[in-house]
Amino acid sequence: MSKGANKSGKVYLAGAGPGDLGLVTLRAKECIENADVIVYDHLANPDMLGWARDDAEIIYAGKQPGESRTQQEITSLLLDKAREGKQVVRLKGGDPFVFGRGAEEAQEIATAGIPFEIVPGITSAKTESAIDYAALTKLGGTQVMLMGVEHLGAVTSEMLKHGVRGDLPVALVRWATTGQQETLTGTLSDIAQKVAAKNFEAPAVAVFGDVVSLRDTLNWYEKRPLLGKRIVVTRTRKQASVLSNKLRALGAHVIELPTIRIEPPSTLREFAELVQDAHTYNWIVFTSANGVEAFFDIFFKLYDDAREIGGVRIAAIGPATAQRVKDFHLHVDLQPEEFVAEAVVREFKKQGSIENERILVVRAEKARDVLPKELSATGAIVDEAFAYRTVPETRDTSGAQRQLAQGGADLITFTSSSTVENFLALGLPWPKGMRIASIGPITSKTVRDQGLEVDVEARRHDIDGLVQAIRKLFAR
Ligand code: SAH
Repeated sequence: MSKGANKSGKVYLAGAGPGDLGLVTLRAKECIENADVIVYDHLANPDMLGWARDDAEIIYAGKQPGESRTQQEITSLLLDKAREGKQVVRLKGGDPFVFGRGAEEAQEIATAGIPFEIVPGITSAKTESAIDYAALTKLGGTQVMLMGVEHLGAVTSEMLKHGVRGDLPVALVRWATTGQQETLTGTLSDIAQKVAAKNFEAPAVAVFGDVVSLRDTLNWYEKRPLLGKRIVVTRTRKQASVLSNKLRALGAHVIELPTIRIEPPSTLREFAELVQDAHTYNWIVFTSANGVEAFFDIFFKLYDDAREIGGVRIAAIGPATAQRVKDFHLHVDLQPEEFVAEAVVREFKKQGSIENERILVVRAEKARDVLPKELSATGAIVDEAFAYRTVPETRDTSGAQRQLAQGGADLITFTSSSTVENFLALGLPWPKGMRIASIGPITSKTVRDQGLEVDVEARRHDIDGLVQAIRKLFAR
């Protein structure tokens, strides 16, 4: 798949799997990454849209009452976009052909003479069957039914009439494989009643069979510590995934709502000059992974040899920053235990005098200037290199703001002061009961300065520390 308007358009009918981000095919992911246009439906996990190009056009086709486009409108949309020469991905929950109207769409696209590709997905179902109750009864074994909630009463009474035993175990699994998964179990004779009593809603699959009783021993999924907790991640789209994936692995439903984005500094030229002269310093201090990346991005544009860095020593604040340096096969000479600027100054002092040492501090534009100031106060000659700037992210491509407004959240995570400030600047109503987790004291101070309370602060001021703190908060 390639970009460019002179190329002919094409439609990819792709399955988004049942919900979990790990249950998508590599091909579907590749299609999303390359797409000019993505048309997604309500069962497709919108977090996948984070894989899309920044300039991709993202269209929600709905499927919930009140927000849906008609099937005809969707098909014409796909055809129009493809005729404009666009690479169009039609993303559908599960497999596009299992109750997905994928065949209808494919037929129309074929009739219109537009090239298309079908990317199967992992379906929420195992089998598809037109209901012949007599045959079904004889079959025995396990049966899985889609779109089961609405028809459950009718289906169970038919099955009973055809002689299936009333104590056959039945489970309904709603939003399976996602952090919102919920299960309701019962028997063929009482499940419909239970569903009505609990007001158990679609989308759910119904599973009929003795296999349901294995749930007590095999249900690893719903035993995870953060199951069903709705947690907001506010980091940049690029950086969010590490935190999000860790929370998801513990069962959380993550709402990725990036509040900031990394852009080149407004004084890019000056930055490049400082990078060029980096070898003339005694120390380079990196304060963030973003800074490391921005630095070496320029460095390797200027030089084709890593040795041009010279004998300069390197300090890195925080393990993620240090790891980024090591990724470039460079040794980190100083890595403070505590991941705040003040600690770096203390560590430098421990190393002995840094009087007249030349130090280059690589950092974000408009970051706190405590570090350069204190280093200067000890007699060092300090230059600051503004490597990048964080700007507010106002786009909401994956509908995270809608998700937050509709379903609320249990917790919001802040990993820097700018995530706090920019989240509040969005002016979204604060969901009822949403608590706050902060990565460290500086971020916490910003939260409090804004008149909010911090419910939990990470002991270690990094992502693992934050995840640990969140586990503890919910275990209480
Ligand atoms: N193409 C989809 C099915 C679409 S029909 C697929 O292959 O999975 C819609 C029905 O799918 C819902 O009513 C529900 O029964 C089922 N479904 C889809 N995703 C689901 C999920 N994550 N959890 C439970 N049921 C789901």
